[in-house]
Amino acid sequence: MTDTYLNLVNTGLTKKLAKKLGLPRPVPLVRWKPGQPLVAGPVLVVGSEHSEKDADAVATTLLEWDLDVRRTVEPGQRYAGVVVVLTGIQHPDELGGPVLSVGGMLREQLAPAGRVVTLSRPAVADDAPAVAAARQGVDGILRSLAKELRGGSTGNGIVLSDGVGVGAPSVLGALRFFLSTRSAFVDGQLLTVDSPAGSVPQDWERPLVGRVAVVTGAARGIGAAIAETLARDGATVVVVDVPAAGESLAQVANRVRGTALQLDITAPDAGERIVEHAVKRHGRIDVVVHNAGILRDKLLANMKRDRWDSVIAVNIAAQLRINEQLLTSGEFTHEPRIVSLASTSGIAGNRGQTNYGASKAGVIGMVRATAPLLTAFGGTANAVAPGFIETDMTARIPRVPREVARRASSLQQGGKPVDVAETVAFLVSPAAGGIVGRTLRVCGQNLVGQ
Ligand code: NAD
Repeated sequence: MTDTYLNLVNTGLTKKLAKKLGLPRPVPLVRWKPGQPLVAGPVLVVGSEHSEKDADAVATTLLEWDLDVRRTVEPGQRYAGVVVVLTGIQHPDELGGPVLSVGGMLREQLAPAGRVVTLSRPAVADDAPAVAAARQGVDGILRSLAKELRGGSTGNGIVLSDGVGVGAPSVLGALRFFLSTRSAFVDGQLLTVDSPAGSVPQDWERPLVGRVAVVTGAARGIGAAIAETLARDGATVVVVDVPAAGESLAQVANRVRGTALQLDITAPDAGERIVEHAVKRHGRIDVVVHNAGILRDKLLANMKRDRWDSVIAVNIAAQLRINEQLLTSGEFTHEPRIVSLASTSGIAGNRGQTNYGASKAGVIGMVRATAPLLTAFGGTANAVAPGFIETDMTARIPRVPREVARRASSLQQGGKPVDVAETVAFLVSPAAGGIVGRTLRVCGQNLVGQ
């Protein structure tokens, strides 16, 4: 689906007109392509009082990644990224120094598609009140700052739980993800790293070599993009979809040089058949991405039982059953990864979507409770919550609400399937082993609220 408005406000006369009228002017997002540098320009690293050691360590890591690292704001210099290290803050008084030093340069000196990343610690109940206030303050700064950035730039935060250092694999993985254009449509999000688990891949560009991944609902849309992205990152991919989508499923399987499994995921033995196919054809199963999902929207007052039941059956009950079968198969034991597709409708709710909202909020609860069942194997379960993504699913939304949904985010446009796929690829990578039971939004900082 093309976004005509985005094209118009970026070309010729209509661009000038939109500027004159003060209309929203989303810019086309820059997306990562293999062979591109991790960050296309200098990266500024600043640290707050009590965070200098961590800031030094982050700067050293970035240098090891061959980035051009600067420690002070130099007049006239453009920066592709800014990392603000706030891990040691003790009091809200300490926030102003580093934040204002960055604030002064963002408008003129942050390059288009620039990246701002904060590193901080979570505010927890046994913190001293001033420490908790300072730490929680970072959330407010990051979410507000992300709303102010323009030119396709984004702001995201990494929250390091106790015992997690700035060199932990998942902190490094998240830092690379947020700094690069892989995270083009992730904006205004704070991702918690729960533990130092996970491992740094031998090759950051092909972290999934040797892994076998299954993607459901992969005949089109987001699922097809996930299959392509996991294959690009080195995985052998099994694509799953209903028999009616068999032809396009076969095409996706060919494109990714994987295999196709025609299967309705609501079948009682779906999990067993997935394991059997992956192990028989590829020798193992390491990653399952629960992407298949359906919409049957109606206001609750008009909701019939069949619409309710079918959404629950496909979007959540099937995943629960498949996960149980994965866990009891004895095959899903090599640092396994589960990623489920949630939705911002499962976080903020959406009119006409009580059934869908129940299923997608259910996914968020499910991954939180499934993750601990996988820790013994070095595994994780997480969710990705897309906002408005340009697919066949959203093309069916009537014109006016579709246009409103597109613009109602900090990036003022819908995302692309590849944006969700890049986020899934990061969460199933070896480096993400310390991110456990979390939900990461891919929504351009959608303004739908909580
Ligand atoms: P889509 O409708 O384009 O594709 C979904 C795929 O799932 C289809 O190929 C379909 O055949 C398959 N599928 C449906 N029921 C199945 C079943 N029982 N067994 C096997 N396969 C089945 O959807 P999409 O827009 O690509 O969305 C993918 C996922 O992302 C869904 O879970 C959706 O809820 C979620 N999501 C999408 C958006 C968006 O804006 N597009 C936003 C939030 C969440």
